[in-house]
Amino acid sequence: MIATVANAALAERARQVIPGGVNSGNRSLPWPIAFVRAEGAYLFDADDQQYLDYHAAFGPIILGHNHPRVNAAVVEALNRIDIIGAGVTDLEVELATRLNRYIPCAERVLLTNSGSEATYAALRLARAVTGRTRIIKFQGTYHGWHDAVLMNVISAPEKIGQYDPLSLGMLPDVIRQTIVLPFNDTEAVAETLQRQGEEIAAIIVEVIPHNIGCVLPRLDFLQALRNLTREYGVVLIFDEVVTGFRHAIGGYQSIVGVTPDLATFAKAMANGFPIAALVGRAELMDRFAPGKGVFFAGTYNGHSAGVAAALATIAELESGEVHRHCFALAQSAADGLTRIAAELGIPMTVARFGSVFVPYFMEPGPIENYTDLLRNSTARDVWFRKKMCEHGIFMIPTALKRNHVSAAHTPADIDRTLDIARQVLSAMPAHI
Ligand code: PLP
Repeated sequence: MIATVANAALAERARQVIPGGVNSGNRSLPWPIAFVRAEGAYLFDADDQQYLDYHAAFGPIILGHNHPRVNAAVVEALNRIDIIGAGVTDLEVELATRLNRYIPCAERVLLTNSGSEATYAALRLARAVTGRTRIIKFQGTYHGWHDAVLMNVISAPEKIGQYDPLSLGMLPDVIRQTIVLPFNDTEAVAETLQRQGEEIAAIIVEVIPHNIGCVLPRLDFLQALRNLTREYGVVLIFDEVVTGFRHAIGGYQSIVGVTPDLATFAKAMANGFPIAALVGRAELMDRFAPGKGVFFAGTYNGHSAGVAAALATIAELESGEVHRHCFALAQSAADGLTRIAAELGIPMTVARFGSVFVPYFMEPGPIENYTDLLRNSTARDVWFRKKMCEHGIFMIPTALKRNHVSAAHTPADIDRTLDIARQVLSAMPAHI
């Protein structure tokens, strides 16, 4: 069990001054936990309990928490320069040059602070250059908290095919400008563009919909998105906020060989420091230049802390060793879970790409879109995660959420995870 003396006291104080006791919608936990330290692959709560972390703060942590060389680079930068708010800094130029080198579509680079800001700016630019207002997103993808995209992520079955906004207070007129289609469904995209292509400014897509775990795109689907958007004059936006840097420095686009017009990056870009990037074709991105009609701003854009962290993170990733290490361990975790579930007769399909693995509690079968994941047993999924947490393995207890391996995880960590998973799964009540 998770002890809750100091945890409970802090969580209660949090609830008195922070709505719901958390600073981001998806951070609520079934127990009162307050974290006081993070190091390498481990988290420590206020009651001094230790957790092996697979949550990775929803994805930024790829090198391990509090990576010494990233932190040192931030301190060094801050000893020299913080934020000027005029002109540009040497660090910003350095980072933009790196992104330009690594990311196939990044002829131009703009820095901001969060993934939501980057996707917001991408959609504004797409609307500006096309003179159109509507956009297409896909069921199961998340692109941030703003009104144009905050809908149809993990929807109840009866909401599929209808608008499913995640918040009150969103502007109905903005919601109605978004068309939601099934992922990996080329025909649905082609039909929509044929019917109303002239109204559509952009298609925004999580290249791997990691907000519902790990649903792989079919190559022909991504190629069709590229061809159809060209044909209909629509801006193609790859949201690489999760896939960027985690799967390759150049994002999934560098792996799959399909190059979008614009792309957004954040999370693993700076191993946990707040920074994001909007990158893309010069012809489009240059419309953001002052005087060219499209507004882009932010007091903290390009802050030296985030930029130095991003440069140091890229330096760690450049040899490829981090990715090789994380991918191999994630593969062992996925193989181990599959083996254990089979031995115990528990229906499970473990999806994996790169350092991400996700056990779905369902029989093997196609996983092409969100509808396919309705076969996942939410009750088993959440029960398993809760029990793993109680045994010191932090897999956030929310159905469909992904696990991430970092450079700080070791083969022994994976072995221990699998030992505990076997123990937990063996005790899973048959009725859930
Ligand atoms: N895009 C994707 C694919 C995401 O997963 C997220 C956040 O989880 C965002 C955009 C929004 O990023 P942020 O939370 O930094 O605003």
